Amino acid sequence: MHIHSMAGKCRGILCALAMVLLLASRSFAAVVVIDAGHGGHDQGTRWYGLSEKTLTLDVAKRVETILKRNGVTTVMTRRTDKFIPLETRAAVANRYRNALFVSIHFNSTRITAINGIETYYRSDRGRKVAYTIQQSLINKLSANNRGIKRAAYSVLRHTNGTAVLVECGFISNKSEANRCGSAAHRQKLAEAIARGIMRAR
Ligand SMILES: [Zn+2]
Repeated sequence: MHIHSMAGKCRGILCALAMVLLLASRSFAAVVVIDAGHGGHDQGTRWYGLSEKTLTLDVAKRVETILKRNGVTTVMTRRTDKFIPLETRAAVANRYRNALFVSIHFNSTRITAINGIETYYRSDRGRKVAYTIQQSLINKLSANNRGIKRAAYSVLRHTNGTAVLVECGFISNKSEANRCGSAAHRQKLAEAIARGIMRAR
């Protein structure tokens, strides 16, 4: 009886140890920092009556709502239409140990036929997260897959933890602009981004 209970106790300790190791081996992001690109006097790109800064804030808030509903701790770099320097945005993420920073943007180019979604990263860890989010977006939305790309954008360079930047579509493309202008489409974008975040973190 005594031996039996001792064995049970040991199993309990081993089990707890295994759990600790499991959690430590998983680079689990405790906080997700959602960054709505641009804001205030920085409008971002503007096409067909759409302002990038407004679209990014709308999608960011939708992502926040979904993540919170799923018990994920979130921090927003902005929740109003105000200008925030890029370094400040990264500094918000750097307040937390092991935060996942997700910057949300919309794209444009003079070649208006170009359309689709792409996700940027800088580190190896960022690459995996970018891939998961990009796949989630492409699975959910019938959009052109422009893939994941490595870039040295300021917010990716200045964040200490994992950081990605999602370009949700080209508003310089008439049909993509039409889609991005609809709340239902932005909800789908947010759902796909949130799902990708939850799978990756
Ligand atoms: Zn932008």
